Amino acid sequence: MESLVGLLWNEIEARGARKWVLPTLDKHRKTLRFGQQVCPGCLRDDAVPYFRKSWRLAFHTICPVHRNTLIDRCPCCGAPIILERLDIGMFVPTSQAVAYRCWKCGADLREAVQFSDVDLELSKHQMLLLDCLRRGWINVGGRVVYSTQFFEGLWILWSFLDDNRWSKGLGIDPQDGTREDRSMNRQSLSHTSTKRRRALLEKAGNYLNDWPDRLVHDMSKLGLSGGKLFRFQKHYPSRGVPFWLWEPVHLFLDGTMYIPSDAEVLEVVRWVFARDGFVRANEVARLLNMRTRSNARVFEICRTFSGRRLNTRQ
Ligand SMILES: [Zn+2]
Ligand SMILES: [Zn+2]
Repeated sequence: MESLVGLLWNEIEARGARKWVLPTLDKHRKTLRFGQQVCPGCLRDDAVPYFRKSWRLAFHTICPVHRNTLIDRCPCCGAPIILERLDIGMFVPTSQAVAYRCWKCGADLREAVQFSDVDLELSKHQMLLLDCLRRGWINVGGRVVYSTQFFEGLWILWSFLDDNRWSKGLGIDPQDGTREDRSMNRQSLSHTSTKRRRALLEKAGNYLNDWPDRLVHDMSKLGLSGGKLFRFQKHYPSRGVPFWLWEPVHLFLDGTMYIPSDAEVLEVVRWVFARDGFVRANEVARLLNMRTRSNARVFEICRTFSGRRLNTRQ
């Protein structure tokens, strides 16, 4: 996994889980988790079956070659898939010590019933993410974004989409998959089922295909501000939100951050005066969608405007 430094993250966290890496053990290292995914088709095609590094990553949910959902457990006994338990390379090779066997019951994972259940569009999007991880950059809405920045922002976007308060409104079924352990810190996408992550892959893929219009459209339809999205960065506040994600949301959705020019304020002051016959600064600030209703600059412009009105009348 360390080979992904500079591609998936800029450095490895000294402690704690690595973002995007699916855990194979719980926090106390006692219980096994379904953190290892495999594609039976890939294992079938390999001359010597081996596990791909990316099968441990949360954003990898389907195989773009075989166009099927990755499996994360033995289809026969339901045990999590764990390469280490097979003792490959430790002793004399045996028929059991091969990557395609279930460590528990010995079932051949290559024979797991798999059929193509993924459309071309979705597999293209999965390919895009895997290519980004390989190349170190991606094109988002006509702009080149470094992969570390991209995956940082994608984590925020996925976490946002995963939130049940609005996922249904965004067309993601809240019943679509369950978290393995609801007592776990719910911020982590790494504890979300493959099925749910596949739905997130699809939704985020649609957004990225039409960046940023579709996301902005959906968020404004539901009345969601940029703050609702950016709060998913709260665990790493020092790093800030990557620019590629921050900019369009800031530009199109975040009225609270908007700072009007003096000329714009004056326009609204004139308009309010024409409508009401008098001007109040808090009304001007409200119409301009400003952060606070009591803004000293707006107050000053109103006062000057009203004073001038009075003077001309006299
Ligand atoms: Zn495959
Ligand atoms: Zn098994």
